[in-house]
Amino acid sequence: MSVVGNAAPTRRRDAGPGPAGHPLEPTGWANPDGDPADDAGEITMYYQPQIAIATGEVVGVEALLRWRHPRRGMVDPEELIRVAEQSAVMRLLTRRVVDDVVEQLAKWSAAGIGLRAALNVSVRDLHTGEIADQIADRLASYGVPAERLQVEITEGALMADPRRVLATISHLHRIGVAISLDDFGTGYSSLQHLRRLPLSEVKVDRSFVLGMADDADDAAIVRSMIELAGALGLRVVAEGVEDERTWRMLHAAGCDAAQGWFYARPMPAEELVTWLARYRPVRPTGGHPQADSGRRPGR
Ligand code: C2E
Ligand code: MG
Ligand code: MG
Repeated sequence: MSVVGNAAPTRRRDAGPGPAGHPLEPTGWANPDGDPADDAGEITMYYQPQIAIATGEVVGVEALLRWRHPRRGMVDPEELIRVAEQSAVMRLLTRRVVDDVVEQLAKWSAAGIGLRAALNVSVRDLHTGEIADQIADRLASYGVPAERLQVEITEGALMADPRRVLATISHLHRIGVAISLDDFGTGYSSLQHLRRLPLSEVKVDRSFVLGMADDADDAAIVRSMIELAGALGLRVVAEGVEDERTWRMLHAAGCDAAQGWFYARPMPAEELVTWLARYRPVRPTGGHPQADSGRRPGR
């Protein structure tokens, strides 16, 4: 895909050693519109399951952008987004993400898989109404019900200027696309905004979830976030659930859903179909998860 141009971003930390002679530091997006002849690598979406903690049922997936650079391998999406956000590239990327995810939902639907998918948007995508129009248009042309799609926006971005995005998120809400507040706990939400914005869900930031099994403060923070969100009628998803202990603590705290390596890592759409076929619901009944499922959740 040419929109990524000639950027030289940081490689993913877990992508193995970098090729010698290639700087790993971002150098900017020198050619954001790209030369179509350039081999800029491949942009693709990975999908990570979200599981209802009490029942073990797969309730949806989060779509996560991946860029496989021809020389640098898998690029850290946070780095890619940070650089893209400074230019018109972000708009193009988001358009591409919306197209890909809605098309994928239609494909899954045709294969009898009724999944809901959440996609991430950057705050500037919400400053104009264009994205809501595009989403409405894509859903209609693929015949995908709006309830199958969810839009995630980070708390920091949303709370920085809630009024600027209100029209767009209200439009999405009206057409039936739920809004999820991502990275909850990192962005100073006011209770007023949490109550007034048309939100359906909050996602507890993984920095708290990752530490909660060993750190009493993190555990207390996560519990209060779950309680607060519950009191406001918002669904709560914990991201970054890596182990069984955390999963059990979240269940005890009343968290609705979880996403993390404990269940599965983000994966390409075709792999997800195989994962779903093999997955057996894991319920926190008190014993070891194997007692319920006969196997550990997929990684
Ligand atoms: P996010 O939306 O908060 O996504 C969750 C991140 O947590 C993902 O990182 C996911 O791979 C990671 N994760 C999931 N489970 C675990 C776990 O158990 N342990 C740990 N340590 N990490 C886990 P990823 O894929 O690297 O994406 C990073 C961020 O990049 C995303 O954070 C999101 O803010 C942004 N991003 C990704 N795709 C898109 C996109 O299509 N558009 C926009 N605007 N932003 C995107
Ligand atoms: Mg997200
Ligand atoms: Mg997040």
